[in-house]
Amino acid sequence: MRPFTYDRAADSAQAVRLGGQTGQGQTDAPVQFLAGGTSLLDLMKLDVLTPERVVDVTPLRTTHAAIEAGPNGLRLGALAKMSAVAAHPAVLADYPAVAQSLHLAASAQLRNMATLGGNVLQRTRCTYFRDTSWVACNKRNPGSGCAAINGVNRNHAVLGVDASCIAQYPGDWAVVMVAFDAQVDLVGPQGARRLPFASLHRPVAGQPHIETNLRSGEVITAFTVPAGSWTRRSAYVKVRDRASYEFAIASAAVALDMDGDTVRQVRIGLGGMAYQPWRSHEAEAILASHKLSEASAVAAATAALAGAVTHGGNDYKPELGRRTLVRALMQAKSMPITTRKA
Ligand code: SF4
Repeated sequence: MRPFTYDRAADSAQAVRLGGQTGQGQTDAPVQFLAGGTSLLDLMKLDVLTPERVVDVTPLRTTHAAIEAGPNGLRLGALAKMSAVAAHPAVLADYPAVAQSLHLAASAQLRNMATLGGNVLQRTRCTYFRDTSWVACNKRNPGSGCAAINGVNRNHAVLGVDASCIAQYPGDWAVVMVAFDAQVDLVGPQGARRLPFASLHRPVAGQPHIETNLRSGEVITAFTVPAGSWTRRSAYVKVRDRASYEFAIASAAVALDMDGDTVRQVRIGLGGMAYQPWRSHEAEAILASHKLSEASAVAAATAALAGAVTHGGNDYKPELGRRTLVRALMQAKSMPITTRKA
């Protein structure tokens, strides 16, 4: 690890002042915020991230770690620990997919350290990105090419990719957030603003080195999840190479509002498949106002993966993605739903 300046921000205003040059997820950003540290410190030890300054925002826990559930939905402080949100009674009862996605991520030790804000900004697990001995990585080294396209790409994305990068977004919770129409509260040099969660991560668009739509110096302060008739009947299904402490090779977040067997409203997110947290409006359109059966679930899953592009090692992914989504839909359909308490 290279030498760097360490600063500790007492509050969000000081974090913004000290932040300044955090960029939009570029690996060469000279300033990085430190929250749980579970991703940042790894990448600094690997020499992938080499910031001149690290701004520790953990003191913001006193003001930005609350978990609030009310009639309008959930408000989750960005410094809340993953484990605390996963175990919160209101989240478990009314937003089960939110709790499941957090509980199935990483390990217990990591969930006790990692924050929500850091979790959504975690970087890809692409081996070529994390190993600086590989020169060809457009995400880490813009304009250098992509070693994964003709290399080992078993875990790489099949949706939302282009010739510049096929990296997979590795997170779980963000897949639920994009499906649930969540929003992100930010504070930065130009003041506070709110961003749809779906706009937090940028599409690859030939510029994989620019990962987010954050403005330089902006700090995530909270996430809001709107209340909906569909949040209770929700499920997150994760498929991985081992049963614990592993990233998804396929996952699906599903939320349903049902009238008998007919779908009134549906929300669908896919993980392990795409360059960024992925919402499948195509699959939702197939199911809305129709009966949910094994056959209609397969039709929706087929639509969800229709645009998949594979590169050899990941040829198995579209079929696995389809099966994972079908499983999540049938699992959500069979959930016993009790009346929400006033
Ligand atoms: Fe780099 Fe993306 Fe290619 Fe991986 S897939 S080597 S992160 S450009």
